[in-house]
Amino acid sequence: MDTYKRTGLVFVRGSGVVLEAEDGRKYLDFASGIGVNSLGHGHPRLVAAIAEQAARLIHVSNYYQSREALELAQELCARTGMDAVFLCNSGAEANEGAIKIARKHGASHDASRTTVVTLRGSFHGRTIATLAATGQDKFHERFGPFPAGFEYVEAEDSAALDAALGSGTCALLLEPIQGESGVVPLSDEYQRLAARLCEERGILLIADEVQCGVGRTGSFLASSRAGVRPDVVTLAKGLAGGVPIGAVLARGEAARVLERGDHGSTFGGNPLAAAAARVVLSELGSAGFLDAVAGKGERFLEAVRSWKHNLVKEARGRGLMIGIAVTCPPDRVKELCLERGLLVLTAGSDVVRLLPPLVIPDGEIDRGLGLLKDALDAAGKEI
Ligand SMILES: *Cc1c(COP(=O)(O)O)cnc(C)c1O
Repeated sequence: MDTYKRTGLVFVRGSGVVLEAEDGRKYLDFASGIGVNSLGHGHPRLVAAIAEQAARLIHVSNYYQSREALELAQELCARTGMDAVFLCNSGAEANEGAIKIARKHGASHDASRTTVVTLRGSFHGRTIATLAATGQDKFHERFGPFPAGFEYVEAEDSAALDAALGSGTCALLLEPIQGESGVVPLSDEYQRLAARLCEERGILLIADEVQCGVGRTGSFLASSRAGVRPDVVTLAKGLAGGVPIGAVLARGEAARVLERGDHGSTFGGNPLAAAAARVVLSELGSAGFLDAVAGKGERFLEAVRSWKHNLVKEARGRGLMIGIAVTCPPDRVKELCLERGLLVLTAGSDVVRLLPPLVIPDGEIDRGLGLLKDALDAAGKEI
């Protein structure tokens, strides 16, 4: 189906931060899919682990225990301080699982506790329930009716949040850094207020870290930077370095809500995806890895800010989740980057978004930034 606005490009191989197209042309990848290829392309350990696992065992159903999934779940809990994990296949599916936890948890306290509060500008997925959770009207057009029990509040408005989190609320679902709407970090104060209000009122705090989690911002979870411990966290995109995966992590009471028969997923916890994710976790856990991500992010932001480019309104973000707000159409900048051999993403209405592989070397950062600046200069000449 014609659901994607694609370029005609066909990539045939990749190595590190470089992708090669069918015609032999090479591109520097500042997009990583959409924040998926966390270890870049052709990462030797990742490739070897996938090949070894595929040769040994690709799939068994969840009627049996998968050693790889069990070890991945234990490693995820150890890394995040959470108590239990449900493995699935995508970000939307992870958020569906989190919403089910919230609904059942709420109902177990009071049958009227059914509302999931989310933020304006959020993005939580493309299924009907996660679209309902998504606080952007443009995603809702033509796909209704949606399931009831979702309410939206303006981000960073403390009074509105206080008013919205009522006796009928089962959960607050938020992205610590809103990705699709333009790389908009929530302030640490707002995240802490949200955590405090949720805790006081018996409401689950769910962090959608599908895009900002798994080291993307320079800490394993973006919410830990604000000193916040959500009850439930969802992960996906970069978790298995390109193999489809999603995860719902929960702690305390929330970790025990889903019982036998309550939830499931045919492919979830697949040994192949689990083996890939274990390599990603192992690499992220190596000495200095996450600090290096933070440092590389600073290198990006400092460089873009130093240009004082007349088309750049603001460069923001954390770690390697970067948004550059521009005064010209960001899609045009993306095209001009592509012509110069650089892949970037856009977000919101005015943002060029960069989600490079977490392993990007400084030399490639500088080379790509040179191409980006050249593309911005060219965009400037068109106005
Ligand atoms: C991409 C994304 C999703 C949806 O993930 P899929 O794997 O495409 O279903 C959900 N939440 C956030 C924050 C995302 O960035």
